[in-house]
Amino acid sequence: MGTSSPLSRVPRVALLILASLVAGDASAQEVQDLGDFVLQLTEARGPYEAEVREALDSGDLEAIVETINNEINLREEVLITFISAPAEQPPASYDLNHNQILITYRLAVELSDLFGGDYDKWFPSLAQIVLHEMGHALIDVNQIDPPPAGWSEYVADQLAFFIISEFYEAEEQLRWAAEHFFSRPDSRLNEETDHFPNAERAELLLCWINGKIEALEGETGPCAEAYWELVSDWEWRLGPSWKEPFGNEPGSD
Ligand SMILES: [Zn+2]
Repeated sequence: MGTSSPLSRVPRVALLILASLVAGDASAQEVQDLGDFVLQLTEARGPYEAEVREALDSGDLEAIVETINNEINLREEVLITFISAPAEQPPASYDLNHNQILITYRLAVELSDLFGGDYDKWFPSLAQIVLHEMGHALIDVNQIDPPPAGWSEYVADQLAFFIISEFYEAEEQLRWAAEHFFSRPDSRLNEETDHFPNAERAELLLCWINGKIEALEGETGPCAEAYWELVSDWEWRLGPSWKEPFGNEPGSD
């Protein structure tokens, strides 16, 4: 285990810049703070799952969950439960009947194997997946305007990228994940379910990563445009859910 987190929280500078560019929608009703995301690392079975469980218990995942809880109001409690499960269990899912995200330790073991056990590389991939499920949960629990039919996967991917990029500036770690995991055509996750991931979505993720770099350098292009669209879309979607309106960070005017 390294001593520093692969994803370190950064001040919300980018958001403050963006806030001035995106018109807010004050018409929607504010979401009350009635619940939180709650992380549960249940008992792991076998040495490999125990090893990833220990890594996941280092606090990095908890910190991401806390970031969301500190920034966003939730109408109900949502559990994020890691489980030892048989191979038939989908690696990552959201159960809207029980407000519960289920992630298998097996998925974390697969990621860890893929990246040679390098936590700094596999953790961001896992974080993207967990945040994707949190995106589904947010849309469901906060009754956020549903995305157009067939686009919920894309929109959940957007939220995951939005959080990692705005709060952690971890695009480069995500680039690694996009190029080495999400894009793999032979990914077993692909065969089991079309839920996650596929080459088209990996390509989009790479486009947002490159688009953010272009956008912040003042360049234009389809990916920079896609990035701006993503940011304004999620600021709008989450409008009634933010605890603090943009620009109201402590210390700012
Ligand atoms: Zn999904």
